[in-house]
Amino acid sequence: MNRTAVFIGASVMLAATTLSLSAPADGGAAPAPADPIKTLVQQLDLERYKATIKGLTQFGDRRQGTDRNSAAVTWIEERLKSYGCADVSRLKYTYFPTDPQRPSGPQVARGADISVGGARYRGTRAHTGVNEDPMLQPDEKLRALNSQPSRGGEREEVYCTKVGITHPEEMYIVGAHMDGHGWGEATNDDGSGTALVMELARILSAPNVKTERSIRFVLWNNEETGLNGAWAYVTQRAGLQGKEDPRGSGRYPEPKWLGMIQHDMMLFDHGMPRADGSVAREQRPEADVNIEFQSLAKAADGAQKLAWLFVAANEAYATDYPAAVGPHMTNTDSTPFMDLVPAISLRENERGREIGAGWDPQWHQPTDLFATYSDADFRLGLNAAQTTLGAIGRLSGVTLGH
Ligand SMILES: [Zn+2]
Repeated sequence: MNRTAVFIGASVMLAATTLSLSAPADGGAAPAPADPIKTLVQQLDLERYKATIKGLTQFGDRRQGTDRNSAAVTWIEERLKSYGCADVSRLKYTYFPTDPQRPSGPQVARGADISVGGARYRGTRAHTGVNEDPMLQPDEKLRALNSQPSRGGEREEVYCTKVGITHPEEMYIVGAHMDGHGWGEATNDDGSGTALVMELARILSAPNVKTERSIRFVLWNNEETGLNGAWAYVTQRAGLQGKEDPRGSGRYPEPKWLGMIQHDMMLFDHGMPRADGSVAREQRPEADVNIEFQSLAKAADGAQKLAWLFVAANEAYATDYPAAVGPHMTNTDSTPFMDLVPAISLRENERGREIGAGWDPQWHQPTDLFATYSDADFRLGLNAAQTTLGAIGRLSGVTLGH
């Protein structure tokens, strides 16, 4: 072993010497071609990501069925247009609280220690729930902003598309939900995922960025009421996949779905609650991006492969935090897709075993405010953005022109 190592070391040194001697003789050899994905990932910026999250918080908790939610949809739509993202569109549907509930995850037998999605709880669990009490929001301005109640009726959600050069008829869907609740600012749930998707739409919509396949950026509405916006999208558009319209135009209003990647709560990984239910104040140094697929989904095999591809992209492109994979994706907008196409979610923690056990004390609470989070928290979301941009760059075949 040692001998081999010495031998390889010597030949590397020799090669390096040869290279350093020959390079000037060429008058400067051409540098290795830069990785276009790395160039794009470097355009992600912590302050810019934070500014987009902050922009979303001006609409309070963005609860579905309110004027503040509609105003946020319009704000997102205007931003997507300003980025140059193509075919900015709205999906229309209706939602009434009396609508029958559709599944939020797989059917799993719930035992005392089995969470949604099928994971087994471990260790300490703390209380979770949705705050419905306005008086628990001490900020009077924010309380007033969040005061209009939700009304049943018409709903809209916005999406736009990076159109592929060689395969416009196929796409990856990159999503997050823009609605929230709980009388806070829905900063983490899910301003953090919404801003991530918007930043990717901005970077990939630059005119010099080309992709072989299409990418659709969707900001779902009504996630908090039972994934109703995502279910509406699947119901209305699954049957349109891959159809050229008008015929011969080269346009595909609904490219064939190759995969669906959801982002939901990207910031806070402070570890398990302590015995008294409290959670550490600081981001834990070993924080990670949790990538989940659902082992009970019909498309589980493809979803698992997609998850590992995201881990590889994280290793290649994420600056601070690693990624981990789990098999219990649930309760977010990737669920309606998971039997049809490989679907994964990215989160700060696993949804069932960790978030469901109270690892995020801001979840659906008045404390889900921009001011609650530190740069170490926001940086976890930025690392998830680096991971998805790296993976989607590889999957879509990205190149940079002039
Ligand atoms: Zn959420």
